[in-house]
Formats: sequence, structure tokens, C-alpha cells
Amino acid sequence: CGVVGYTGKKQAVDFLLYGLQTLEYRGYDSAGVAVLSPDNNLHLVKVAGRVAALRERCEAANLVGTTGIGHTRWATHGAPTDKNAHPHTSCDGRIAVVHNGIIENYEQLKRQLMAEGHGFKSDTDTEVVAHLVEDAWNGPAKGDLAAAVRNACDRLEGSWALAVTCADCPGELVVTRNASPLVVASTEDGAYAASDVMPLARVTSHCIQLDDHDIAVLHEDGSIVVEDRDGNRVDHPKTLDIDWD
Ligand code: GLU
Repeated sequence: CGVVGYTGKKQAVDFLLYGLQTLEYRGYDSAGVAVLSPDNNLHLVKVAGRVAALRERCEAANLVGTTGIGHTRWATHGAPTDKNAHPHTSCDGRIAVVHNGIIENYEQLKRQLMAEGHGFKSDTDTEVVAHLVEDAWNGPAKGDLAAAVRNACDRLEGSWALAVTCADCPGELVVTRNASPLVVASTEDGAYAASDVMPLARVTSHCIQLDDHDIAVLHEDGSIVVEDRDGNRVDHPKTLDIDWD
């Protein structure tokens, strides 16, 4: 299973599909992407099955946009079906989330969210994250996606590598982790995120390894800001130099 993300100058879908292909060795049963279109809407393509099938569907859908997230799923909660494939979205479809790991307290969160009027579209544990980010975005964190993700993660128990995109935050991605792997990389062409270094072989030899609960904000100019769980800037995040030979 794997997570990828990109924001930058290039077409996002190209890296997302390439990255998911290089992560195939980790095993998966479904795959999907969300790309932010130039008119600021999120377009999702997701399928049970292989990345090759996802690629065909993406080509047919002609996904245009320079910010996006992608996922290969190894189902833990909810059958491996199209509807349970990631990304998962908020009620209004303006926030999309991909997740590797397990949200241990999702049943309790889902009950609370449903009582507050959130409608759910899948049987996954992951979908609560999209709704929690939406709640924070519409509440205390309005206008600050990183704050919304931090607020949501404060309510989670379990393990996660998360990538989050918001239709109202073009040129930005927020990623974070706890007990699931995630690296990010800053380049001239844009900023990248991935479960491990394999998808980044073509683009860089310098990665940033996130600590548990670190939140990284990726910008389309390639810059990356890392914050800890209290929102304080991490000035010298752990770097990883890779010798691809
Ligand atoms: N627990 C999530 C699900 O079943 C994510 C699984 C994964 O790590 O791919 O959808």
C-alpha cells in the first residue's frame, strides 16, 4: 500500500501514476487519485484492481491539474471495492484524503460525525479523516489547511500516513504521519510526497523524513514547511541523502 502527492509545475497525474507503480511491490488491492483542476475542483478516479486499470481510467478522464494525491490500498476496513478505494472526500467534495494505516477509533468518530449530519459514502475507517478535516476547516481552522489537518489528527488514534488536498487551497498539499512511513522532497519542479523513496528516484537524491506527528505543507514553488504537532516550525527536519547507484 502507498501514498503519493505532488504540487508543482508539471501535470500531477503523471507523477502520481508513476509513483503508485513504483510502490506496487508493497502490495495493494485498489488504487486511486485526486487531481485539483485549473478551475479549482477536485476530480477523483479510483478503482478496485491494478494501477494499470487506474491509468486507463485516468487517460479516459483526461485529468488536468498540477496538484494531486494518489493511493494504493490494502483494505483493512471495508471490502476492496471502487467505493472504498481512496481518495475519500468531505461532504462537499472540496477536501480529499488518502491514508495508509488504521484509524483505531473510527467507529466512535463516525457515530459522532453522523450525529452532526455528516453523510458517509464508504465503509472505510479512513473516511472519518475527510469529515474531521472538513469540520475543522469550517470551524476554528478556516483558511488554514495545515491547522485543519492538525486539529483532525488530534482526534485520531491508530496509525496513519495522510495526504490531504483542498479545492480552496490550489498549489498546496498537506501531509502528515504517525507510525506509518512518509517522506517529502523539495525540487525546482515542485514538491513531492511518498510512502518511501522509490517514487522519488527520478526527481531527487535529497528527501526529508517526517517524524511522527510532523505536518508538512508542500507548495507548488517546491518549498516545504514542516511543523510539529503544536504548530511550531521545525527548522532542521531529518534529511535523507540517497545514493541511487
Ligand atoms: N485502513 C484503510 C482502509 O482500509 C487504509 C488501508 C491502507 O493502508 O491501504 O481503507
